Amino acid sequence: MTPTTHIAMSSDISTAATCGWKYRLPKIFGVPTSGSFGGLVGWAVHDVLSKSGGAIHETWKKTTNGSHLKPLQLAIEPAKEEIFSGWREKFVEGAHTIDEFVALAETRLGAMLEGLAELMSDRGPPDRFLTEIQITNPESHHQGRIDALAEWDNEYETIDYKTYDDEAPRSHGYEHFQIVANGMLANYRNRHPESDFTHNQLVILYPGGRRYPRPTERVQEIVREARAYVLAALSSSSTETVQVLRVPKACWVCQRPDECNFYKGLERMHREGNLPSDEDELRRLLWQRRYRVLDFRQISHRWDFMVSEKPVEELERLRVAESGYHIGAVDKGTGCIILSRSQGTRTFLKGDPVQLVVLEPDRPILACMNFRGSIQAPVVNGLEVKITSHPLSEVTRLAANSPLIAMRTEVDLTKRELSSLDFIQRRASPIVKEIARIFLGVSG
Ligand code: SF4
Repeated sequence: MTPTTHIAMSSDISTAATCGWKYRLPKIFGVPTSGSFGGLVGWAVHDVLSKSGGAIHETWKKTTNGSHLKPLQLAIEPAKEEIFSGWREKFVEGAHTIDEFVALAETRLGAMLEGLAELMSDRGPPDRFLTEIQITNPESHHQGRIDALAEWDNEYETIDYKTYDDEAPRSHGYEHFQIVANGMLANYRNRHPESDFTHNQLVILYPGGRRYPRPTERVQEIVREARAYVLAALSSSSTETVQVLRVPKACWVCQRPDECNFYKGLERMHREGNLPSDEDELRRLLWQRRYRVLDFRQISHRWDFMVSEKPVEELERLRVAESGYHIGAVDKGTGCIILSRSQGTRTFLKGDPVQLVVLEPDRPILACMNFRGSIQAPVVNGLEVKITSHPLSEVTRLAANSPLIAMRTEVDLTKRELSSLDFIQRRASPIVKEIARIFLGVSG
């Protein structure tokens, strides 16, 4: 395969490991995903836990004997109140009321905290407790966002929060693949080979407690195979990329058999030469456009590869990144941080998306703690930045007094484009298809 700057996300790898088609439908064909009530509740619970990294770590450090549960419940209360009141404002009632939403979220969060308190009782407090850390391994073209990473001297725990339902994670299921994929990234952060789990404990917290999935040779092999599959599916300009993974599919519990049958049938008819010529032409044009969109997505990753390869002086000369920043102030009113740098910025303009990397000693640069946001304004000797990936309290907890590098990044808008291609192929009326065929043909 020709080297590209495509990236396989841990979540996509895990989906592809369960079924290649399940990955391809939303991520290649653009089939829209739909949320469930339980999934929305899980999202709220996940937000509370992500926002409470500091509270969790402080409780872990302070409570040396007895149960951690009560102090933990008290410590996360402010984040819980803030997140739940936000949902009270934005929740649209339909099949479920907001009271049902909050009641289920309270129950699920309570159960998650019980598992977390037990985990905290197992061993002393970590030196660092990182939340929502995005790690990119440019050598394997692999990226993931780990819910929490607890680090001791030479040991670390990769923690995933499974909040979207109450079921226990299954062996050789999605969550098992995901935590092994994320664990490989944690190994990379700690400068171990990705397959060396000797210092890395994997933990999945779910509303029924906690699980310690094993990173067996077989599961690692499945993850690596699925990663190669995702990268091939993203980068091939061929229309013959369907590979079948060696993992049993679970069609009987799949939520999208109709969409799957549609695309499988379409591709089969094409291979057998049974598609009417105008439909075959539309299919060809849509594949062409799809790969152009996916190729465009690579641009958003090019900066990552440059930052991992080139020295800082070269990156500054190319206006890809600037070093020498630190957090100067926090403006709670606007939700922004002020980054200070003696010589100000020569690279960034108002509105630019930006990634801030905390320069940690002995870590690969793309495995250091990082935050994403956008430039609100260049200011005297610095930048005003709105952080979108983390709450401000987590940014100051994890990055105060640390040197920061600000690097260019891009916002990925390709999902919407792919979904309009799916609409044309699957649901548009014949006249719209005809117009699309002409339009794609002319512009292609
Ligand atoms: S119906 Fe079966 S093959 Fe199709 S996406 Fe679902 S699990 Fe995969």
